[in-house]
Amino acid sequence: ERLGLLSLSWRPGGGWAPDPVLLRSLAEQIGLAIGNVRLREELRRQAQHDPLTGLLNRRQLDEHLRQRGGEYIRTGRGCSLLLLDLDYFKTINDRFGHEAGDRVLQEAAALFRRCARVEEAVFRLGGEEFVVVLATEDPEEAQRAAERIRNEMQALRVSRRGQILPAVTVSIGIACLPGDSSDVQALLNLADQALYAAKGGGRNRSQRYQSLNGKPDLPQARRS
Ligand code: GH3
Ligand code: MG
Ligand code: MG
Repeated sequence: ERLGLLSLSWRPGGGWAPDPVLLRSLAEQIGLAIGNVRLREELRRQAQHDPLTGLLNRRQLDEHLRQRGGEYIRTGRGCSLLLLDLDYFKTINDRFGHEAGDRVLQEAAALFRRCARVEEAVFRLGGEEFVVVLATEDPEEAQRAAERIRNEMQALRVSRRGQILPAVTVSIGIACLPGDSSDVQALLNLADQALYAAKGGGRNRSQRYQSLNGKPDLPQARRS
């Protein structure tokens, strides 16, 4: 593998000329060092990203939330967490096969990434569940962002082998820091409760955790 070019110059008759054996050994050592750095970077990239969609993985979400918590304590700047779950996704696998399901996951992930701002992080939690951490702490703005994603998802048409698959919709739970909790680690659980309500309410909708408060049938979190 060609990694680069090593260029040396010397004055003819200057009393010194490079030893070709030494040069080759030097080039090999540099090559090995560069190869090691590349390998380490590739391993790190693989450890941080989901291979199917290229999004950040669950472990990175934990890390990201820790950072957001620190930022909130330092600056008072909050954020909003959207928990997204594709609706009736299993039927795509059942009707069109696992590969078709994978295509839908990839296209949905790309759509979520497109809808988020560059500084906003998008994660695949696993299966057909995703998280977007929005820069805003305003629940109404967060819900507008969620509705944009929901509408775009509804309009998305994924085709595979010349066949257009049925539209897949998404349900979204929303929790805000600090409006819903001043503990960033609690956001995922609160968004999950909101998502559960969105599913129970008929799916293809977004639901703020805030709006659940006071309702007698507050659903229990699915995640312990
Ligand atoms: P709901 O509206 O209640 O969310 O229904 P659902 O069918 O989306 O949810 P359910 O949890 O019943 O099914 C999720 C399915 O996602 C089941 C699983 O086989 C599928 N799945 C999980 N990971 C992958 C994946 O990487 N690729 C594909 N193709 N399918 C996956
Ligand atoms: Mg799910
Ligand atoms: Mg689902």
